[in-house]
Amino acid sequence: MQSSARNAPEPALTVLLTADQIRDRVRELATDINRAYPAGRRLHLVSVLKGGFIFLADLVRALNRQVTIDFVAVSSYGPGTHSSGEVKLVKDLEIGIEDRDVLLVEDIVDTGQTLAWLRTALRARHPRSLCVVSLLDKPSRRIVEVDVEHVGFTIEDRFVVGYGLDCAEQYRHLPYVAVLDQRVEDPGERGPDASNGDLEER
Ligand code: 5GP
Repeated sequence: MQSSARNAPEPALTVLLTADQIRDRVRELATDINRAYPAGRRLHLVSVLKGGFIFLADLVRALNRQVTIDFVAVSSYGPGTHSSGEVKLVKDLEIGIEDRDVLLVEDIVDTGQTLAWLRTALRARHPRSLCVVSLLDKPSRRIVEVDVEHVGFTIEDRFVVGYGLDCAEQYRHLPYVAVLDQRVEDPGERGPDASNGDLEER
C-alpha cells in the first residue's frame, strides 16, 4: 500500500516500526498465543488503558478464537522522570476473572513496576491462568523483574509513540510506532507525561 500524506511521519518523529512490521508481528504473536492454550478454551483478555487499545483490537482479530474482553486503567506517581512504583487502580475490571484464562494485554513494559503490580493484583483474584503479552519491551530500563510471556518487539531505551502510545495524549492514532525526537520536543527522559510528578494516568 502506498503511503499517503495522512500517514506520513510528523517532523519530530522517526519511524521505528512500520504498520506492516506491526501487522506481521501481531499475527505471529496470535499464532504463539493460540498454540499456548488448548483449542476451544476461551481466553479472557484484559487490556491496560489507554495505550493498549489498538494492539488489543488488532490482536483479538488475529487470534480468531472465542475471547472475552475487559479493561483496567492504572496511574502511577512519578517524581520527575522516574516512577516511584506506586501504582493506583483508576478503573477496575467489570468482569470477575476467577477461573478464567487471563491474558493481560500491555502496550509497553518499561521499568516493570506497573506490570508487576498488575500481575500481583490479578493473581490475587484467582484466575485459572495468567499470562502477559506486551507489544513492546524495554528491558534495559527494568527495575522490577517481571515475567512477560509474549513480547512483540524488544526496543532500546527510547521514548516511543503511536499505535496507541501517547505523549501528552498525542500520537495515539498513528499506525506506526515512532521515536519522539526529544531534541525537538524536549519532553525529558520519558516524555512530558512523566515530568511533573503528578498522578499520571497511563
Ligand atoms: P513501567 O511501570 O513498566 O515503567 O511503565 C509502563 C508504562 O509506562 C506503559 O504502560 C506506558 O504507559 C509508559 N511508558 C513507558 N515507556 C514508554 C514509552 O516509550 N512511550 C510511551 N508513550 N509510554 C511509555
